[in-house]
Amino acid sequence: MGIFSRNGSENGHRGPARYSAFSLFRHGLTGSDWQPAWRSHDLEDSYDVVIIGGGVHGLATAYYLAKEHGISHVAVLDKGYVGGGGSGRNTAIIRSNYLTPEGVRFYDRSVKLYENLAAELNFNVMFAQRGHLTLAHNDGGLRTMHWRAEVNKLESVDSEVIGPDEIKALVPFMDTSNSARYQILGALYHPPGGIIRHDAVVWGYARGADAHGVHIHQNTEVTGIEVKNNRVQGVKTSRGDIKTNTVINSTAGWSSLISGMARVRMPISTFPLQAAVTEPVRPFLDPVIVSGTLHVYVSQTDRGELVFGASVDPFTSYSMRGSLEFLEGLAGHVLELMPSLAKMRLLRQWAGLCDMTPDYSPIMGTTPVTGFLVDVGWGTYGFKAGPVSGETMAELVATGETPRLIEAFGLDRFSAGTLVGEKGAASVGH
Ligand SMILES: Cc1cc2nc3c(=O)[nH]c(=O)nc-3n(C[C@H](O)[C@H](O)[C@H](O)COP(=O)(O)OP(=O)(O)OC[C@H]3O[C@@H](n4cnc5c(N)ncnc54)[C@H](O)[C@@H]3O)c2cc1C
Repeated sequence: MGIFSRNGSENGHRGPARYSAFSLFRHGLTGSDWQPAWRSHDLEDSYDVVIIGGGVHGLATAYYLAKEHGISHVAVLDKGYVGGGGSGRNTAIIRSNYLTPEGVRFYDRSVKLYENLAAELNFNVMFAQRGHLTLAHNDGGLRTMHWRAEVNKLESVDSEVIGPDEIKALVPFMDTSNSARYQILGALYHPPGGIIRHDAVVWGYARGADAHGVHIHQNTEVTGIEVKNNRVQGVKTSRGDIKTNTVINSTAGWSSLISGMARVRMPISTFPLQAAVTEPVRPFLDPVIVSGTLHVYVSQTDRGELVFGASVDPFTSYSMRGSLEFLEGLAGHVLELMPSLAKMRLLRQWAGLCDMTPDYSPIMGTTPVTGFLVDVGWGTYGFKAGPVSGETMAELVATGETPRLIEAFGLDRFSAGTLVGEKGAASVGH
């Protein structure tokens, strides 16, 4: 019997073996192979729901559709491999200290889901809530931090503005002196924020979705979407056509191309975003540190590497190449914050694609084409939203009702002029 012991029907199988200390011990003793976390399937002619994009959003949506709503005849299609987009390239910062009440409520639900995700998925996602500091280097910045702190408190999210002495106590290596080139006046401190093992989140959702009967198809590129009488009829892929009445676009950096296939125009521009990591050193940095003024953020992984990021490249592109220009700018800004890092050596750099919207909030929900739904516009900040997006998109598909948490993020807000302006909380601090 394989790992996925079946009890007759595809959707009725009992799922994969549980990961536990006991199964680790047993595998160690017997030397037997671990079973694959999810299976491959032939592409079927039709599915109830087709999700385009095998990142955290697409996989979480599939997982909650099957688990919470019993809709498991679902295909997740990815032109590459699971997690090959932004979900495997991000810097894994999780937080909910946004600027608008709609944003704070939404991301707070995601943090809550993340807190329980390891148990939910039986997969160690290594969520470390080490705190998150957004630095203010001038009066305008400090005012925005106070604004965010007040909105956060009203939504029962733990955030407060702290001064240079408290920052120094949390991060002794930080230059909080008056002689710093960009003096630090204060910071928004958000204790529930932190970092997570992003690959584990993606693999855990993929494994969970598979266990509930979802088909995950890697190396399956969507090349067209069939729409008749303003209704979705199916998708064309590099492996054949699929009939379906419901398509969800969860392709982040490629999302305007996919929406274009359904002739739905979206106010999205795709920009590359780069990041870099150093060699590992002893743990010395607990919280995540972000400086919007310096366009830089830093965290330390459990392995000891420092992870650096910045804001998006200043031009639109679908290229995922790194640049020397980025590294030079990044290194200078990191040293302005923490001069003692001058001898650290960078190990590697990489880039991913970000689907930026005009108001730095996502676009979620229905579109003018019946059956074509979007979960896009995730810019530089969408990884943290994976669980809540999956939960709410699944509810939308299952009930036909837009959940309250995502009402504000509809595509129609751009014609109605009801934008959800998050630039003050999302432009650099992912
Ligand atoms: C360097 C970097 C750092 C970041 N840091 C953070 C952070 O710290 N915190 C945070 O919250 N967010 C961060 N982000 C943003 C975050 O990574 C993304 O918003 C998020 O991962 C988007 O997830 P997704 O599942 O929507 O899309 P993705 O993970 O990008 O998945 C989309 C998938 O669609 C597939 N696809 C595209 N076209 C097709 C097609 N035609 N047919 C089939 N499949 C297709 C792609 O192969 C891809 O796998 C960062 C992003 C980058 C690049």
